[in-house]
Amino acid sequence: MLELDNVSTGYDDVQVLWDVSLRVEVGELVSLLGNNGAGKTTTLGAIMGILPLFGGDVRFRGESITEVSVQDRSGLGLTIAPEDDAVFPDMTVKGNLRVSAYGVDKEERRRRLERVYDLFPRLQERTGQYADTLSGGERQMLNIGSALMRDPDMLLIDEPSLGLAPMLADDILSEIENISNQGMTVLLVEQNVNKALSISDRAYVMEKGQIRLEGRAKDLMNDEKVRESYLGI
Ligand code: ATP
Repeated sequence: MLELDNVSTGYDDVQVLWDVSLRVEVGELVSLLGNNGAGKTTTLGAIMGILPLFGGDVRFRGESITEVSVQDRSGLGLTIAPEDDAVFPDMTVKGNLRVSAYGVDKEERRRRLERVYDLFPRLQERTGQYADTLSGGERQMLNIGSALMRDPDMLLIDEPSLGLAPMLADDILSEIENISNQGMTVLLVEQNVNKALSISDRAYVMEKGQIRLEGRAKDLMNDEKVRESYLGI
């Protein structure tokens, strides 16, 4: 569904990504892993069109989208749940979810809302609560729920476990596994390598703006370099 072919990009004239190639097939859950500053968020920026490419190509459903604007990429069915949450603090949970499906037919919006509440019963319990009073884990659920309200074909999720206590981090990653099991195509950026590999089909490991390792999640979990560098084993 998504392919990056030798993508290079950066900020102004400072290059940060070097020939990044990766692919995510329909229905797959693929993780993009690596330490702080490895280039994971930058890769998502290149996919969403927030950063201009210095070289290479991004394809979605077989077609190059390199020239497609940020807004139009979302219209193609590619949606991101960003790291710094996009939640409106002074709106309720329900208000936030509804506004993410702004302009969508009422019946359809209701159907999407039900689906999000099915996936995250906690959000349904908190439906009337203001977003700025939610816990970190609940805000992350709302962040992902808001992205799902746009009814994407593919979801990019940036560091959903960031800043969460280990148990909450486990919960949110289990929810992502659940979303994937329901057929969503997901590219997940995570620093929690162990847990991310345990829910993924495949993964890529980045270092210094390049892909260093790739493979099936099961194989990477047993890879000596991954175990030493990322799992502390
Ligand atoms: P983290 O897990 O810390 O978010 P990451 O793997 O997502 O790390 P990126 O945020 O993509 O890494 O950063 C990759 C490199 O790009 C880093 O060296 C970072 O300093 C640099 N960088 C990120 N954002 C900017 C920016 N807005 N301007 C200039 N350089 C940036």
